Amino acid sequence: MKDYSIWNDGVNFLKCDKLDKNINVDVLVIGGGITGVSCCYQLMNTNKKIALVEANKIGSGITSKTTGKLTFLQDGIYSSIKNSSNIDNAKLYYEAQKDAIKIVKDIVKKEKIDCNLEKNSSYLFCCDDSKIKSIKNEKKILEGFGCEVGEIDKLPDGGKCCYGIKVEDTYCFHPLKYLEGVKKVLLDGGIKIYEDTRIYSINNFNNYYICKSDKYSIHAKEVVLALHYPYFTVPFFMPFKVHLKKSYVSAFIEKDSLKFNAISLDKPVKSIRYYKDKKDCYKIFLYGSRNLAMDVNDKKHFDKFKEFNYNYKYLWSNIDIITGDYIPYVGEIMKGLYIATGYNTWGMTNSAIASVVIRDLIGKKENKYINLFNPKRGVNILSLPLVFGSNAKSYIESMINSNKSFYESVRIENIDGKKVGIYNDGKKEYKVFIKCPHMGCNLVFNEVEKTWDCPCHGSRFSVSGKVINGPSNFDITYK
Ligand SMILES: Cc1cc2nc3c(=O)[nH]c(=O)nc-3n(C[C@H](O)[C@H](O)[C@H](O)COP(=O)(O)OP(=O)(O)OC[C@H]3O[C@@H](n4cnc5c(N)ncnc54)[C@H](O)[C@@H]3O)c2cc1C
Repeated sequence: MKDYSIWNDGVNFLKCDKLDKNINVDVLVIGGGITGVSCCYQLMNTNKKIALVEANKIGSGITSKTTGKLTFLQDGIYSSIKNSSNIDNAKLYYEAQKDAIKIVKDIVKKEKIDCNLEKNSSYLFCCDDSKIKSIKNEKKILEGFGCEVGEIDKLPDGGKCCYGIKVEDTYCFHPLKYLEGVKKVLLDGGIKIYEDTRIYSINNFNNYYICKSDKYSIHAKEVVLALHYPYFTVPFFMPFKVHLKKSYVSAFIEKDSLKFNAISLDKPVKSIRYYKDKKDCYKIFLYGSRNLAMDVNDKKHFDKFKEFNYNYKYLWSNIDIITGDYIPYVGEIMKGLYIATGYNTWGMTNSAIASVVIRDLIGKKENKYINLFNPKRGVNILSLPLVFGSNAKSYIESMINSNKSFYESVRIENIDGKKVGIYNDGKKEYKVFIKCPHMGCNLVFNEVEKTWDCPCHGSRFSVSGKVINGPSNFDITYK
């Protein structure tokens, strides 16, 4: 069994060099996940000088652990947006998702990207009768937008379902093959991409920014923060506006690859899609999500997969950012500084729409989604208890768990007044400081993926202390 996502296998990753000199650009995109790469693609033909910097490798962040569905049927999102905002915004969001699918489809076709893009149907279903009403509600809203919605009482693979709805013209793909394909187009188009280049500071001068890596500076007129969790934006108060959700995913071999995406409204949530590589068919099965602050023992969540008698080939977890009104934050937050984040676990589509919104903001053009995604919009008051509750709980839990190791392979010691986590893989001991450099929460060891995870804002570190996912911008190496 492999403790990483299925997408990391079987892709020929092109390597780009580290930044090795000071440079000047019109637009600097920081972060090489699907958001950053998509933004560069849209900006490529705007006569601006563009560069992309990525702390690790292109596609090594949250994008590498997605389930890779391109769908507008996204759990109960239209009911959620209607309740937290209004029906007009729910409709605009629906149109944005449909446009986003078309954007990705057109890019794949135009650039001839081999990324297993496959048309399918999407299902929203439940096994618990009490959720039928919510699904029917979602159906009614979608029909009000002019969408054709069917009803189902079983899934195409015979999986348990008491009621569900079905829509057509949705897709799934291999997210990292897509990123690699677009990356090649960017390089051929003259965009500079620097990998292994982490930005540590961004300073704003009158009409330009200086972004510093470990050794060099980038002088940019405009900067796009495509970091997943945009932490260079203290005045934006990100930790007060969002909470995080962690989900557990598996892949195992099946006889056939079926053409459908499905997500349930049950608890634990189930999400399903199929993927066929050159040799095998896989079912990708997500089972269970949790508020990042709650129930931090990852092993317990992974153990739930044992309820099903599957022969798992891959197991992994992933984190995404949930906004108070279920609408992403995309746009300009300071003059010339843009963010695209808060995709509510639907970043394959939302990154595509974010890239055209940011392109049009930079190009001073109109775009019908600018107001919908405006990151300066008011915070939804109803979401505040959840966001504050989560943040407070995660901090307190992290303190309580600081002396607790759930696992035999890990012990925690106080060395020179600092908490040090020591992991032993049977051959070697790895020591790290277990306070998250982002906001000081205590890290919890994730036994399955062998990472140190922050229960507050989702940073993750390898056993040797290297930061894998932000918002921490620093390692926790023991020196
Ligand atoms: C379990 C799960 C399943 C999902 N499945 C789906 C799905 O089926 N369909 C869908 O639409 N969405 C899905 N999503 C959501 C989607 O995966 C994410 O929203 C999306 O991948 C986020 O992409 P990103 O580019 O914003 O972030 P990332 O991919 O994390 O990219 C950010 C990049 O920034 C880099 N970076 C960070 N700091 C710095 C720095 N200081 N300097 C330079 N670089 C830096 C990081 O290394 C990283 O590569 C899922 C999410 C989860 C949790």
